Order: sequence, then structure tokens, then C-alpha cells
Amino acid sequence: MTNVHPRRIGVLAIQGNYAAHAAALIEAGAEPHEIRKAEELANIDGLILPGGESTTILKFLERRHLFDSLMAFCSAKPVFGTCAGAILLAREVRNPAQRSLALLDAVVERNAYGRQIDSSILTAPTALGPEPLEMVFIRAPRILSVGLAVETLASRDGFPTLVRQGQILAATFHPEMSKDRRVHKLFIEIVSASITNK
Ligand code: GLN
Repeated sequence: MTNVHPRRIGVLAIQGNYAAHAAALIEAGAEPHEIRKAEELANIDGLILPGGESTTILKFLERRHLFDSLMAFCSAKPVFGTCAGAILLAREVRNPAQRSLALLDAVVERNAYGRQIDSSILTAPTALGPEPLEMVFIRAPRILSVGLAVETLASRDGFPTLVRQGQILAATFHPEMSKDRRVHKLFIEIVSASITNK
């Protein structure tokens, strides 16, 4: 089909590198919307929860009474969490334990790589296609385990780094910081499918 209206995808714009996600969405063919208030969730078809500091993001969500609206949105529509965003989505958070949306059947350990190697760029095979995937890790969490409904699309040392559970996509790295747009394109496809399947 031609002339499809670009998908409207929100980027939670509280803290962290949301601007880079917005730029990546434009490159991948979607229309980004910065989201700071619950009302703004009504205008979008999917949402990216960017990296940053999950404790800071969580405090903001609670202070602005956004947590419940976000939970309602993410339970019904596609959501993509990167790094701190993946932590917010996980069913269980460790090191230390903290509140989360608990929508992704995964156990996540924060800041899992220690001080020496807390930030690194690795390239690994991916289910997204024949080309390997560059993964930029910044004080990254580790996905310790996932449930049966969760598909692993890339990994590091045997631990999943990019996972999908239906309409939920999560990465422990920062795909917005690499040139490869396959991860954002996959999310746009998930959003498109959710609209067509209605
Ligand atoms: N260390 C951060 C946290 O635990 C995540 C880092 C990131 O998003 N780049 O929230």
C-alpha cells in the first residue's frame, strides 16, 4: 500500500537520550512525539521508554501520577524499552529490587557489568537478519532469565540483550546510538501490525 501515514510513536521525554530515539524514529520512517503528560498518550500508537536512570524516571512517573496511565497504555499498545526502559518493563528487578511495570516476563539485574566494563560496544549475531548487530551498552542491565513467551533476538555471553514478547520489545543496549535502524524498524512493524489487527 502506498501513502501510509507515518506511525505516531511516543518517546517518554523525562530524562535520558530521548532525542536520539526521536531522530532514529524519523530515520526509520515514523513520526516521533515527546511524551511528558498522561493526556499525550492518547495521540500515539506505540511508545518508547528510553535509557537513562530508571530510579529517576520512576520517581518522576510517581510524582506526576503518570505510572498508572503508563501501565494502562503499555498493557494495551506496543512498547519498546531500552536499557532503563527495559528495567521499567521487567517483571522483576534486582540490584536493588525496585518497582516496575512488570509487563515483560523477565528478571533483570541493574548495572550488571561492574565498573571496569560498564560501557562497551559489541557486535553479535541477531535474529533480525544476516548482518550482525552493533550493541552499545551503557551501565547496562543484564536479563537473567525470561519466560516462555519471550523470544530472544540477540544476546551477550549467553544472556538475552534484545527480546520480544508480543507487542513488547526490550533492549539492554542503546540501538538509537548505532547507525543500524533494524531495531527501530522492527518496533514500527509491531506498531503497524497492532493498528491493522484492530
Ligand atoms: N544503570 C541505569 C539504571 O539502572 C540504566 C542505564 C541506561 O539506561 N543507560 O537505571
